[in-house]
Order: sequence, then structure tokens, then C-alpha cells
Amino acid sequence: MTDKKAVSETLHKGVRVTFEADEVLYEETTGHHRLSLISNRLFGKLLMLDGAVQVTSADEFMYHEMMAHVPLTAHADPSRVLIIGGGDCGLAEEVLKHERVKSLTQIEIDASVVEFSREHFSEFNAPVFSDDRFRVEIADGAAFAAETSERFDVILVDSTDPSGPGAVLFTPEFYTNMRRILRPGGILVTQNGVPFLQPGEFQTAMASLSDIFPVSSCYLVAVPTYFGGHMTLGWSSDDRASLDIDEAILAERSKDIETRYYTPAVHKAAFALPRFIEMLRAEA
Ligand code: SAM
Repeated sequence: MTDKKAVSETLHKGVRVTFEADEVLYEETTGHHRLSLISNRLFGKLLMLDGAVQVTSADEFMYHEMMAHVPLTAHADPSRVLIIGGGDCGLAEEVLKHERVKSLTQIEIDASVVEFSREHFSEFNAPVFSDDRFRVEIADGAAFAAETSERFDVILVDSTDPSGPGAVLFTPEFYTNMRRILRPGGILVTQNGVPFLQPGEFQTAMASLSDIFPVSSCYLVAVPTYFGGHMTLGWSSDDRASLDIDEAILAERSKDIETRYYTPAVHKAAFALPRFIEMLRAEA
């Protein structure tokens, strides 16, 4: 272990976000990423891949709850779920809180992120590894989507940003395969970045998704370590029913699920977009 004063996120051109490191706990170059783990007094443990913050022990619940509980409470029968990416397994933890989920498959490209997170983020991901419904396969999510004959009710793409190994998860080919492997009425949720800082990436993804899916929308989550304002999660389906769902049904389906961010009211409100984001979507 080495002591350093700070690490910087360099994800967005023109911006450098610096986190004080009480300690640099780990640094490694895996087959796919440059991985580092630091401890910070506000965020606890903070994992970076290729200079981009992925997860912190303090705020992971915000992103993971919204990515999991919005589609899973909206879907009438989310028995088969697929996660692509999501190596820290915080999203899997939220998915497995739903008893209606009967199987969860996770396709992650980098075994080291899973192994590393299992060791260092057990405070939130430990239940995942003893749950019989969970299986993780180490593979490229785009290759899996192109080849699999399995079908899913809900697919969650918990990816890195559209560069490096994550770039293939933002292409029209990948989204077309997502539609192919969704069951009728199925829901796809995708990580679509921070529109204020990534307007081009946001528009490109929204344009592709709305070309490929009859129903396409997006919703918002605020995550302190994802700098730049609202983050968007794309929502795609062949059916509007789960999007227009009544709040009372969401309340009934989520009543036994322990959350710190998600509520049925937050679920409905998250689809209300600030005008600049609506305009970016309209112009896409
Ligand atoms: N859960 C995190 C959070 O709170 O934002 C975010 C990201 S998660 C660590 C992103 C994962 O996507 C990484 O573990 C990375 O290895 C994985 N990934 C990137 N490209 C991939 C691909 N083509 N197929 C499967 N997984 C991929």
C-alpha cells in the first residue's frame, strides 16, 4: 500500500475532479482496465477504472437502486433478469432483493473487477454470492448478446462509458440484439451518462434506442460522484404498459424491499425531464 494525497477523475475533457485519498489501497492494470481503489473520508472506498469513478461505498445505493427497482417494480413478471457489466455486483444485490426474480445472469468482461469487488465491497455485495439465483459469466456483453438463445424479462446494462471495452455496448447492433433477446413486454435499462457533460453521447444513444424500440424514454438519478448534474438511464421496450404504470401498483410490489433512494413517488417523478434534456432528446 502507498500513501498519496489525491487521485483525479479525467473522464470529461476540460474537467479534472480530484478526490483526496486518505490511502491508496490498491492499484493494478488488469487485462481490460487500469483499476485503482482509494479510501476517502466522505465516500468511503472509491473504485476507479481507467480514471473514471465506478462505485463508492457511500453513494452506490443511489445509482444501483434506481437502475434495478424502477424496471423491476414496473414489470408484471420479472422472473428472468440479465445484467451486462456491473462488475462491482452492487446492482445484482438490488435485483436479488426482488422475490419475483427467479434467475439473474450477469455477463461481465473483466473477472478482476468481480473478484476485487467481492473482496473489497462485501459490505453491500456479499449476499449476491450466496444466492442460488445468481450466476456470473466472464465474457464480452456484446458477443453474448449476439450469440445467446436465452430470453429475458428485464435487461440492465451497467456499463462503463462509451470508450474502451464499454464502447460496444452503445452501438445500434448491440441495441438490436437487446431487443432480440428481450421477451415480449420486456424492459431494457441502459446507462446513458450525464447529458450536461456528454450531450453527444446521450443524443446518439437516444436516437439509436428510439429507432430500434417502439417505446423509448429515459429517467434521472442524481449521484454525487457522477459529476455534472443528472445522470440518465435509458428505458426501452416494445410495450408502454410498464411505463404508464400506476403508483399504487409500484407501492404494492416494492413494499417489502428495503431502499434508501427508491420510492414509488421518486420512480414516477424520475421520468420528468428538465427542458434542456427534453430538447436534447427531441433534437437527437
Ligand atoms: N456499478 C457501477 C456504478 O455504480 O456506476 C458502474 C459500473 S460497473 C463497474 C461497469 C462494468 O462494465 C465494469 O466492471 C466493466 O468491466 C464492465 N464492462 C465494460 N465493457 C464491457 C463489455 N463489453 N461487456 C461486459 N462488461 C463490460
